[in-house]
Amino acid sequence: MSELVIYLDGEFVPRSKAVVSVFDHGFLYGDGIFEGIRSYSGNVFRLKEHIKRLYESAKSILLEIPLTQQEMEDSVLEVLRRNQLPDAYIRLVVSRGAGDLGLDPRNCKKASVVIIAEQLKLYPQEFYDNGLALVTVPTRRNNPDALNPKIKSLNYLNNILVKLEAARAGVMEALMLNHEGYVCEGSGDNVFLVKDGKVITPPTYLGALEGITRNAIIDICQRLGIPCEEKPFTRHDVYVADEVFLTGTAAEVIPVVDVDSRIIGNGKPGQMTELLTREFRKITVVEGTKVPGLA
Ligand code: PMP
Repeated sequence: MSELVIYLDGEFVPRSKAVVSVFDHGFLYGDGIFEGIRSYSGNVFRLKEHIKRLYESAKSILLEIPLTQQEMEDSVLEVLRRNQLPDAYIRLVVSRGAGDLGLDPRNCKKASVVIIAEQLKLYPQEFYDNGLALVTVPTRRNNPDALNPKIKSLNYLNNILVKLEAARAGVMEALMLNHEGYVCEGSGDNVFLVKDGKVITPPTYLGALEGITRNAIIDICQRLGIPCEEKPFTRHDVYVADEVFLTGTAAEVIPVVDVDSRIIGNGKPGQMTELLTREFRKITVVEGTKVPGLA
């Protein structure tokens, strides 16, 4: 297999040559932002929304991206074309760039842009067939007053702690509460519950990322006339929900059947979750931006 080609600061370089400086403030301080994007059969799902979220994160942290949004979109498509990858997971990173050891980002002369696309690694089918067990963990989501989680920043340390805490509890994923104890999201996924026919997800002001998949599920509910609300809820509400599921670019929609040893519903993926999964999969191909030049 030929070596993966990576976009690095305007050039397309082989994986083995794609390196950034140890003085990059993304490396030294987590000073940067990123996106995780996915393509389905040569169509990039909601590419414009991902790019918009990236540029909004950049604006919020006063990071100037040296490409227009259109150039960024074209670069993503070009990485897929060069690697001939119709089904890919795409990681887009913009860091503050190389500076000195001091904190001051004004010493970083130019932001660094990296686009990596690799063959999609699907989650095991059993996750979708049987559902996941989750635990709630001690690590809380960032307080939006401190670092707003709408900024998809390179500061993922608490998400990483959540992963470790989940693994120690013997499960794959966990629920993070926010600073007030409301249910917020998973380590890398948004959370939904279904109760009495209503689909409910926490409002983003509680501290969840405004997930692209989350928004797609809300859109689907609106189109199908399924009641859907953004409303704060607690762990108790999760325990007594009829269904629980997680959403994210990599995971799509994953049923949850056990939270903190409370069986959710009848312990099997629920009907609403299955319906929304089917509807989500239908839109993934039709809503995408087509990658030109794929064989
Ligand atoms: N929350 C967090 C913390 C995430 O990292 C992600 C993955 N980007 C999500 C939610 C899901 O967002 P999306 O649907 O845009 O992938």
